[in-house]
Amino acid sequence: MSDGKVKSMLETAVVVKVTEGLHARPATQFAKLAKEFSCSLLVLHGSTSADAKSAVKLMLLGIREHDQIVLRADGADESDAVARMAQFLSSPQAGVQPARAAQAADAAACAGETDAPIAQSRSGDGNGADAGGRSVAPADETPPLIGIPASEGVAFGDAYVYLPEPLRAARQFIAPHETATEAMRFERALDDALAALDSQFDRIGDHDGIAEALVSVARSDEFAGEIRTRIAAGRDATAATLEVGATLAASFESIDDEYLRSRADDIHGITRQVALRLNGQPDVSLAGIAKPCVVLASDLTAPDLARANVANIAALVCTRGSATSHLAIIARSHGIPAVFGLAVPDSDLRGVAQVAVDGTLGHVWFEPTRALQEQFAARIDEARAHRAALDVYRDVGPVTRAGRPVRIAANLGSPDEIDAAKAVGAMGVGLFRTELLFMNRRSLPGEHEQYSVYRRVAEAFAPHPVVIRTLDIGGDKPVPGIAFAREDNPFLGWRGVRMCLDRPDVFKPQLRALLRAASAGNVQAMLPMIADVDEVRRVKALMAECARELAGEGIAFGAPKLGIMIETPAAALTADMLAPEVDFFSIGTNDLTQYVMAADRANPKLAPLYRCDHPAVLRAIAMVCDAARQAGIEVAVCGEAAAQPPMIPLLVGLGVDELSMSPACVLRAKKIVSEL
Ligand code: PEP
Ligand code: MG
Repeated sequence: MSDGKVKSMLETAVVVKVTEGLHARPATQFAKLAKEFSCSLLVLHGSTSADAKSAVKLMLLGIREHDQIVLRADGADESDAVARMAQFLSSPQAGVQPARAAQAADAAACAGETDAPIAQSRSGDGNGADAGGRSVAPADETPPLIGIPASEGVAFGDAYVYLPEPLRAARQFIAPHETATEAMRFERALDDALAALDSQFDRIGDHDGIAEALVSVARSDEFAGEIRTRIAAGRDATAATLEVGATLAASFESIDDEYLRSRADDIHGITRQVALRLNGQPDVSLAGIAKPCVVLASDLTAPDLARANVANIAALVCTRGSATSHLAIIARSHGIPAVFGLAVPDSDLRGVAQVAVDGTLGHVWFEPTRALQEQFAARIDEARAHRAALDVYRDVGPVTRAGRPVRIAANLGSPDEIDAAKAVGAMGVGLFRTELLFMNRRSLPGEHEQYSVYRRVAEAFAPHPVVIRTLDIGGDKPVPGIAFAREDNPFLGWRGVRMCLDRPDVFKPQLRALLRAASAGNVQAMLPMIADVDEVRRVKALMAECARELAGEGIAFGAPKLGIMIETPAAALTADMLAPEVDFFSIGTNDLTQYVMAADRANPKLAPLYRCDHPAVLRAIAMVCDAARQAGIEVAVCGEAAAQPPMIPLLVGLGVDELSMSPACVLRAKKIVSEL
């Protein structure tokens, strides 16, 4: 040293006692505490180290409970600093207060959970949501049932138990003199079931000819004809219906085409409707919910939910399901609190009259006590006030205190969600999932139909960008006209851009529709599941071909920006090679987490491992942000992590320019960013 003095420095080894280590919340608190001191503070962990004043860097160290670390301080207040920081690290509950709430919250960090839940009190009585600012588990003594927090908010109200009874025939055979009446009973049941189907589709419209197809299956020789033959031969009508339905469904299930395979569900549905009528049993369906209720079910499909009036669903509780299932995404986009994977047998759901649900923590109480009901009522009131307070952010384009603007955009799955996103001031669409356009129909959507949809969305949000993701579908979801072979690992299989590149007949109409819509608004194209630079180059060549064709045909088109989703480890690790090829990155944390952690996003048993705040995932995100910065392109996050309050400061800190999420979370994200 030039002045010849030995520079002072203080080092202390500490064993970390903080429960679960320095994950998102404690790291943030730790960094906040460190900033109270003027000295420099370094945390050394094995061969790595990080500035204690940076929560992001701390999290990237991946410090666990029981790990030994070294605190190194240098400066005037170094002794105080080291003492306070060491004290923090020795306390199991440090940074995780209030304890119960935070523990559950961290177990659910990728489940849309938050310590500042958005107001979600929903219209009607007996339901509502958590208030802002905290996620406090009620002080009621009754222990909750624990599940996966799938959509935040609280609710309580009457239960609507949705557990369709298995159907059985009371007898197998009939006497010869009964065959005529039995045949008549069957015809009446069939007519009734089909009339009910007709009126259901009259209400919702049969744009894709689904009702028509179902009627033709039901009246076919293979179904109705075969049942008639069996009744004539002395079989009970219910027994014959169930048998024929099961055999026909099984033959659909064995077809090597996912779309056709899933038609087995239609056969099961018709069979059920006819058999219910033969048995005189009432049907349970979510369409029957007439007032706000908490739905209790084993499992639900997105179409089940589509049949219900969502205003009457106060909350969803399922014994199966996961936080990143499509049902969970739909629940979040409607602001319906939900707990999935509840650890009780289905039989326990029967007979439940009232339910209290905390979707933020994944807690459920059957028959809540009066005290608990009162607490929930108070939280609902607070939530209303909190929601009203968030409204001021509607027209705010959030900027951090350091002056960095961050765009808060919406994730949409259909144009029906445009109004909800605009109502909260979404600054464009960061992810338009096009899969819904292709699903639940009998034929592929044509170029013109797609163009109209993309254009409608683009016009609604102009001049903000609207990012249309090209078809991201695989063998786990059926699409008419694409034969997906059965695969052992459909999530590692022929899906997304891989399938599209092999099927230009499917892909080119979408690319042409996108190019055309780009002449009407700020449309951008985004490719899912990219794993290799060559895939991007091949898509670009195909887009150029489409553009040449459109020009030759004299059809107007634009030049959409092209981005890719970073959701495979390969894309994250080669982000620097991909960046020069594209205009932007969008990190799909739902898949990136599942692939980095090798933990199926739909498996409730793996929920503790499936964490987007795991150091491995954060390091991948950091790499992607660095590569984007180097190449001078924007980076967005459109997975569920973008909406999670503990993740937002980290993502912004890492350099993310846009966060895209369910419309229900937009206002809160604007507030969080504005206060950073
Ligand atoms: C993602 O993987 O993070 C994502 C946004 O895409 P999806 O949830 O549709 O797979
Ligand atoms: Mg994905």
